[in-house]
Amino acid sequence: MLLSPSHLDFRQEVCSFCSSTIEPRARSADAAGEFVKDNVRAMAERGLLGIPWPKELGGLGLDYLSYAIAVEEVSRVCASTGITLAAHTSLGTYPIYKFGTQTQKEKYVTALARGKYLGAFGLTEPNAGSDAAGIETTAKKTDAGYVINGSKRFITSAAFAGTVVVAASLDRSLGRKGITCFIVETDRAGFKVASEENKLGLRASNTVELAFEEMLVPGDSVLGREFDGYRIFMETLDGGRISIGAFCLGMAQ
Ligand SMILES: Cc1cc2nc3c(=O)[nH]c(=O)nc-3n(C[C@H](O)[C@H](O)[C@H](O)COP(=O)(O)OP(=O)(O)OC[C@H]3O[C@@H](n4cnc5c(N)ncnc54)[C@H](O)[C@@H]3O)c2cc1C
Repeated sequence: MLLSPSHLDFRQEVCSFCSSTIEPRARSADAAGEFVKDNVRAMAERGLLGIPWPKELGGLGLDYLSYAIAVEEVSRVCASTGITLAAHTSLGTYPIYKFGTQTQKEKYVTALARGKYLGAFGLTEPNAGSDAAGIETTAKKTDAGYVINGSKRFITSAAFAGTVVVAASLDRSLGRKGITCFIVETDRAGFKVASEENKLGLRASNTVELAFEEMLVPGDSVLGREFDGYRIFMETLDGGRISIGAFCLGMAQ
C-alpha cells in the first residue's frame, strides 16, 4: 500500500519520537518488568492516545491508517508500549466512541483521548477465553444501579486505567444474549486489581487479574443497550485485530 505524503510525514514524526523517547528505556524496562508511566505521559502530550478520534472529543482527528502507523512505529522500538497504545485505543476507547451516548463520549472519550488516564477492556475470565460468550461475571440490576460480581483475567493496563469496559451477564440462563457491557470507573468501591502477570514477553506492559466484589455502578454506566454486550465486544475485537496486525508488524521489524 502506498502511503500519502501526510501519512509519510506522520510516520516520520512518530518514528523520531519513538527513537528519542521510547526506545532508550525499552530494554531495561522489559528486563525489569517495569510499566513506564513516562511513556504514557509522553504519548499523551503528543496526542498519540487519541489519534483516530475527532478533535471535538480531544483526539487528533486523523484516520485509522495513521493510528496503525503509530502502533507499528511504537511497537518497532518497544512492544510493551505498543500493546499499551493499541489496547488503550482499540479496546479501552473505541467501544465508548462507537456505542456510547453523547454524554458518555464527552465524559470518557475526551479524557481517554487526551491521556488523562488509560482505558482498559475486561472480557477474558479464568473460565472464558476464546469462548468469550461463557463469561461468569454477573451484573444485577437494583434501584441504585447495577451490582457487579466476578473476575477478569489478562486485562491490559487495568492497574493504570481510569475506566474499564466490562462485559457481565444480566441473566446467565440466556448465554451470550444475557451479556451487557458497562463503563466501570476504577476508583469505585468493589473494584480490585487482584494480581499482576509476570510474563515471558511484553514484560513492560501491565496485564492483571481483576476482582469485582459487590461493585455498585450507576444506571448510566451501561454501554449501548442492556443485553447487547456480546455484539459490542465482538465488534470491538474486530477493530482490535487491525492494531494487533500493526503491532506484530512493528515487532517483526
Ligand atoms: C498479553 C495479553 C494481553 C491481553 N489483554 C486482554 C485485555 O486487555 N482484555 C481481555 O479481555 N483479554 C485480554 N487478553 C486475553 C486474550 O484475549 C485471551 O488470552 C484469549 O481470548 C484466549 O483465551 P485463553 O488465554 O483463555 O486461551 P484458551 O481459550 O483457553 O485457548 C488455549 C488454546 O486453545 C485453543 N482453542 C481454544 N478453543 C479452541 C477450539 N474450540 N478449537 C481448537 N482450539 C481451540 C486456542 O487457539 C489456544 O491455542 C490478553 C491476553 C494476553 C496474552
